[in-house]
Amino acid sequence: MVDKALTQKIIDRLAASKSPALLAHIRPDGDAFGSLLALGHALRDRGQRPSLFVEGGMIPMYQFLPGSELVLDLPAQLPPETDCLVALDTSTRDRLGQNTHSWPQPIDIVIDHHISNPAYGKLNLIVSEIPSTTGVLFELFQQASWKVSAANATCLYTGLTTDTGSFRYRGTNAHTLHAAAQLVELGADPAEIAKQCYLSITHERFALRKMVSNTISIKDNKKSAFLTILPDFYAKTGAKSEDTEGIIEEVASIQGVEVGSLFEFMPDGGLRVSLRSKGKVDVNSIASSFGGGGHKAAAGIRFAKDAEKNRDLVLAAISQSVVAL
Ligand code: 5GP
Ligand code: MN
Repeated sequence: MVDKALTQKIIDRLAASKSPALLAHIRPDGDAFGSLLALGHALRDRGQRPSLFVEGGMIPMYQFLPGSELVLDLPAQLPPETDCLVALDTSTRDRLGQNTHSWPQPIDIVIDHHISNPAYGKLNLIVSEIPSTTGVLFELFQQASWKVSAANATCLYTGLTTDTGSFRYRGTNAHTLHAAAQLVELGADPAEIAKQCYLSITHERFALRKMVSNTISIKDNKKSAFLTILPDFYAKTGAKSEDTEGIIEEVASIQGVEVGSLFEFMPDGGLRVSLRSKGKVDVNSIASSFGGGGHKAAAGIRFAKDAEKNRDLVLAAISQSVVAL
């Protein structure tokens, strides 16, 4: 599953770096923060001095992660002492964030689990059979015989539980659950992490969810359904853009609905699309045909303009994909 020789090259490259910079994707989720902090802990525990960056910095929901204060907003330029640039959980170079687009440094190492990742680093460890980037990192730490502290185990487990929808999605297998069990032995607390990730949503996030749920439209003989977010939903509820994480799972939870989608109309005229499948439809291939990507069961697209027209095109592609089911 994991290429040992390639992993060893990455371990050696990481071990040789004094001041690596670690990056994760825009609109970061549990796996983005989890993998950023997990690799951060592993390197710090070895006496290295990693910098941890993500667009917008830490968000309140993941502040419970040990070391969360280490995560900083993307700087205009990389710290000059940076000697290794690592991209985590980020399916395309673009998704590292606006500031990084003008950085001259190449990406030295990509560690990811997105099947659509084009391998934009010098060394690329992309393992799509593992359902979270923290799961890929755990394999790397084990091969390297690097100590995994309880703090690190908490970060690794958080990425694993959030990216598998609490171990519910199809990518979850015996290997995943075995890794989760090892992380619990190392100090991750499943009930506490579940409380922080799933039982602590803010009133603003709850209000946004209610408003978005009300937009549901069921189509294609009840085999698909979609939700809509309009720009003024945020002002009306007090929620922030990060509060959309997880809303789409609700559509896909309806019996018989094979594809769920969510269309967020942006104030700048753009459109953000999230797609989810229960397994029969490959939504990565739908997303890829519009320039997006992700996984078979969860993918996304971003359009810069023509929001309504593009929404209709994506809905037509979804109809096509479920018509024969
Ligand atoms: P979400 O719907 O949770 O934002 O994203 C689902 C999956 O699709 C994630 O794994 C994410 O990395 C990927 N994804 C979301 N939006 C895009 C996009 O615009 N481009 C690409 N390549 N992948 C995306
Ligand atoms: Mn991930």
